[in-house]
Amino acid sequence: MQLPRFLTLASKDMAIDLGTVNTVVYLRDKGIVLNEPSVVALETINGIQRVRAIGTDAKLMLGKTPENIRTVRPLRDGVIADIDVAEQMIKHFIDKAHGGKSRIPRRPEIAICVPSGATSVERRAIRQAATNAGAWKVHLIEEPMAAAIGAGLPVTEPIGAMVVDIGGGTTEVAILSLRGLAYSTSARVGGDRMDDAIASYIRRKHNLMIGESTAERIKHEIGMACLPDDGVGTMMRVKGRDLVAGVPTEIEVSQAEIAGALAELVSQIVQTVLSALENTEPELAADICDKGIVMTGGGALLMRIDEVLSLATGLPVVVAENALTCVALGAGRALEDPVYQGVMTTA
Ligand code: ADP
Ligand code: MG
Repeated sequence: MQLPRFLTLASKDMAIDLGTVNTVVYLRDKGIVLNEPSVVALETINGIQRVRAIGTDAKLMLGKTPENIRTVRPLRDGVIADIDVAEQMIKHFIDKAHGGKSRIPRRPEIAICVPSGATSVERRAIRQAATNAGAWKVHLIEEPMAAAIGAGLPVTEPIGAMVVDIGGGTTEVAILSLRGLAYSTSARVGGDRMDDAIASYIRRKHNLMIGESTAERIKHEIGMACLPDDGVGTMMRVKGRDLVAGVPTEIEVSQAEIAGALAELVSQIVQTVLSALENTEPELAADICDKGIVMTGGGALLMRIDEVLSLATGLPVVVAENALTCVALGAGRALEDPVYQGVMTTA
């Protein structure tokens, strides 16, 4: 049954993509209203710990905090590494998306994305955190399903579609058909490990210590999934602490060096996709052969990763238009559009 318009307008239902790196919130009738780092800064005063900052403000403090403040990424090493902090973060983002605590008109209905590899314990923890944070009804939606809907794939039809989502912690590969996951797999390789690989390469090769924010910036600016055509590519100046002299210093790295540092991880991503393809039912494989692969997640923005994947699989590969927000967008659509009924679980 279609609800009267005034009722749907009054309801501030939302979809949340609780990523390991970024949290994105979609609000019914408004679209994406929030996109902030999944980072919390905790401060300890007289032995008591309290939240100092959440999201963008907390990320700015990363690697620059005094001893009594520490920044954590509550989802970093799994689905929810620290449930209490995660819950405070979810609550903060829900309030902020609504424009402040007092503005929440009623307890909202919330769709939250979970990685397909999440255990039932982890799913329960996410559901509980959202309920404690003020949700009236919590729907869970598989992340690859949300990504596929957000990217506009025909997930309700009997047509196989393949999604590769490269996030901060994991790469999720899924084949979807008829509102369900026909196959899914996940590998613990993503943006975080790329940052680590860049930092450790620079430490080894240039004797320079850099922080994780700097490593990420290098990846964004000159990171590439294959060697640049001229064998060198663009150069970038990087600042950090000299390991030998112990003083702040600056060096120059090339795109080719960074591509080299990332090569092993890129190949792990390609291998994960290849093994998913090997496990695909022939009829679905035939569809994927026609339609190709859609890439989502921040890692899909690594320069030329689509090209590398296309070459390795022999399939057409496209990067979704809103790679960083399409999971939240898809979950939002699943919540709004009755066509997608059945793709979410509500316990
Ligand atoms: P999650 O869903 O785990 O929160 P996201 O899909 O938001 O992850 O992707 C975040 C990751 O994508 C980060 O590691 C970030 O550094 C990386 N990323 C974002 N933009 C780019 C880019 N242009 N090139 C390479 N990596 C990128
Ligand atoms: Mg994600």
